[in-house]
Amino acid sequence: MSERGEKSDTGKAEKKAALVTEITPQSEDFSRWYLDVVRRAELADYTPVKGCMAIRPYGYAIWELIQQGLDRRFKETGHVNAYFPLFIPEKLLMREAEHVEGFAPQVAWVTRGGDEDLEERLAIRPTSEVIIGTMYARWVKSWRDLPVLINQWANVVRWEKVTRPFLRTTEFLWQEGHTAHETAEEAQEETMRILAIYKDFAEKELAMPVVDGQKSESEKFAGASRTYSIEALMGDGRALQSGTSHNLGQNFAKAFEIQFQGRDKTVQHAWTTSWGVSTRLIGGVIMTHGDDSGLILPPRVAPYQVVIVPIPRGNWQETVLPKAKGIQAELQRHGVRVMLDARDEYTPGWKYAEWELRGVPLRMEIGPKDLEKSSVMLARRDTREKLAAPMDGLTVTIVGLLDGIQQALYDRALRFREEHTQRVGSYDEFKAVMEGRPGFVIAGWCGSANCEAEIKGETQATLRNIPFDSRVAEGRSGQAPGGEFVAGTCVKCGRPSPGEAWFAKAY
Ligand SMILES: [Zn+2]
Repeated sequence: MSERGEKSDTGKAEKKAALVTEITPQSEDFSRWYLDVVRRAELADYTPVKGCMAIRPYGYAIWELIQQGLDRRFKETGHVNAYFPLFIPEKLLMREAEHVEGFAPQVAWVTRGGDEDLEERLAIRPTSEVIIGTMYARWVKSWRDLPVLINQWANVVRWEKVTRPFLRTTEFLWQEGHTAHETAEEAQEETMRILAIYKDFAEKELAMPVVDGQKSESEKFAGASRTYSIEALMGDGRALQSGTSHNLGQNFAKAFEIQFQGRDKTVQHAWTTSWGVSTRLIGGVIMTHGDDSGLILPPRVAPYQVVIVPIPRGNWQETVLPKAKGIQAELQRHGVRVMLDARDEYTPGWKYAEWELRGVPLRMEIGPKDLEKSSVMLARRDTREKLAAPMDGLTVTIVGLLDGIQQALYDRALRFREEHTQRVGSYDEFKAVMEGRPGFVIAGWCGSANCEAEIKGETQATLRNIPFDSRVAEGRSGQAPGGEFVAGTCVKCGRPSPGEAWFAKAY
């Protein structure tokens, strides 16, 4: 820092940081910290509509990057986008019994249009299996019409009593994929393909490690045969279900008469799937990576990957500013998202604190002294490490650093999860872990809903999922510290257990 010869600015920056931050420390109140970050980083705001948030431009830009990353993956695997109505006639919604029962408490209804009472109430979609299934019944006639691989980017409404921006809101944005297939095997393959896409996306783009596995009967989607999820661990040790993929079997096809003439000329019901992720992922990013100074964004979903802060000294507008603009243009040509913060009315120190709070992965400081030395000063948001970088090859340096930050954030989050994952051999141990430092607990489970409910009642921990090949799943490779797994017994009742399940307190 002293090499810069601009110590006074740095000193001011530290003082200003205290003023600008206004963020509750995580250790004091994680939930408060989260709300402070959402508000101060200008991701979202409360509205006069109860339980509904306004997503501000900076938050929406993150959502757009999430959309792009997922949309590309969906299209690469043969899916196309379409759009279906917001309203669902009541009779249609009632057709799949389990589905209705699961969603009824959360459905918002339209009973009036203009000045007329409606003959039939309209539900505002809580999810679209019903309306999309109805349309598929018209579109699918023969095995030649299959598979149908459609995704919809949309909003849905679920009436919630307790809401929290991004994590649980009455109206939220998501994507919902709905596919129809000729055989049970193809539907299962599709369900798994999507789960793998979600995992890949969460880990590569959001730098958020996830555990993928199957949900228990009691946690599965209403109307599904099998539900699979990806589960991430947040900075406070609570789990976040971050995406789900459902094999719906023939349940919806039978309720909505999605039938086709098979290759053998017999009339058969299609096999369907549905899958979704939502703006909840933004909440996941905030709580996976953020610190007491605010947001830390993985470069791949950062609206600005680099912020350039010119140091206003001397005739900086004739010297420093043109150089800064040149660097910005050069970086943009290489696909880097850059903000040049040349605002006169704020000091560099204020800007450092502001962009730190808003999670920009890399800051570039450039002043007259830097020009003399033909270099710039770079500061990483994740490690706060500062380094002088020569102008020569600056773009290559920055692109490399951004990749490094992306990887470092993933590694850090994975390490955190490993440190907060414990395998337990007895129920006493299970309870002790849950009362102490929260995180994932891996334990044997017999498959009974009773044991699951009792565990939840007594420890608040829910069964997050049963990882594939759970006997050798991640975390078992010696990285998760803790007790010996007593092979084949349920942690609650001691009866035989086919594998292990991951438990945690969850959002
Ligand atoms: Zn049991």
